[in-house]
Amino acid sequence: MRIAVAGLGSSGSYLLHLLTRSGFEAFGFDPKKACYYIPCGYAANRHSMTDLLSWTNLDFSTYIESEAGEIIFSGASQREIRFRSRGMVTFDKNKLEADLLKDCKWSRETVKGSYDLLVDATGVSRRYLPKEEDYRMHTVEYLMDLEEKKEFQFRYFPRGSGYFWIFPKGNKYHVGAGSDSIAKIKDSLSPYTPEKIVSRDIRLKPIMHSISDGSVIGIGEAIGTVSPITGEGIVPSMKSAFLLFTAITRSNDLSAIKENYASLVKKEFSRYYILYDLLRSFQANTIQKRRAISYIMAARKDLREFGVDFKISRMLRGFL
Ligand SMILES: Cc1cc2nc3c(=O)[nH]c(=O)nc-3n(C[C@H](O)[C@H](O)[C@H](O)COP(=O)(O)OP(=O)(O)OC[C@H]3O[C@@H](n4cnc5c(N)ncnc54)[C@H](O)[C@@H]3O)c2cc1C
Repeated sequence: MRIAVAGLGSSGSYLLHLLTRSGFEAFGFDPKKACYYIPCGYAANRHSMTDLLSWTNLDFSTYIESEAGEIIFSGASQREIRFRSRGMVTFDKNKLEADLLKDCKWSRETVKGSYDLLVDATGVSRRYLPKEEDYRMHTVEYLMDLEEKKEFQFRYFPRGSGYFWIFPKGNKYHVGAGSDSIAKIKDSLSPYTPEKIVSRDIRLKPIMHSISDGSVIGIGEAIGTVSPITGEGIVPSMKSAFLLFTAITRSNDLSAIKENYASLVKKEFSRYYILYDLLRSFQANTIQKRRAISYIMAARKDLREFGVDFKISRMLRGFL
């Protein structure tokens, strides 16, 4: 089976590495320039990343730039809630992606040639899959020095309209904001002076019900593997790549691969539909009390997987 992977960000570079290492005939394509600085906070859970990289010859600890001690959340009340870390770090994502691609066949262009399977790993652009109803927020991120040492922090805007973050990154910081309101982004970033500015949309709607089309199968943000409440997308996107890799190793029949992959994705990411419903109902002020337990359980799992030792009671006190 000849496989093309379109898009070599977190999910595509990982999948291409796994396929190449296992002897598949796989080729990667991504037109982005070598010096392109990827808009992303580069935060992930070190334990999940270590698990994912255990299928490669790379050691995640060599990519870590900063480790979280405490993680500070604040909401509309501005009151700070501090949680312990369960392994949240920032890491050199650009170097990891470059290293994953080292022994792979790939080129800096869009897909050329014909393939039995085309993997759409093109992130928010979802270039090879059908258009679906979507929900995105705009983001702007600064890379910069800060005079005062800061912890990892998330400051949520009122009514689920986005959040502002500060993530330490070695001796620098990523300071950014994502929102459905450009004014809120501008306002929250106005005290800061960037060394570098990047910006792009982030998809917050899971679209895993539209995961394939003919010989195209999607992974990563192309199918919405991004937490609707935290914007975490690196580990989830790499996990989806691993699930597709698993399905490919189990069968060389395209229909069987699609069916197997769809069921693995459904099992892994069903909480994103609950969290998306939470986000949209919170924004519309239509939260149903009968869904409270499922929202809380999904949010708890999500934050813990991102590396936050989330305690429900503390969060409710700060946000209500
Ligand atoms: C500002 C910001 C901060 C974020 N911070 C975090 C964070 O701290 N932690 C976290 O876990 N997640 C974070 N995310 C989310 C995370 O970055 C993404 O969800 C994740 O990287 C998605 O991985 P991916 O492989 O699906 O797509 P991407 O990493 O976006 O890769 C897509 C690739 O496809 C390429 N491409 C596009 N069109 C084509 C085409 N036609 N042909 C070939 N290639 C194409 C692009 O050049 C790109 O390299 C953040 C997102 C944003 C916007």
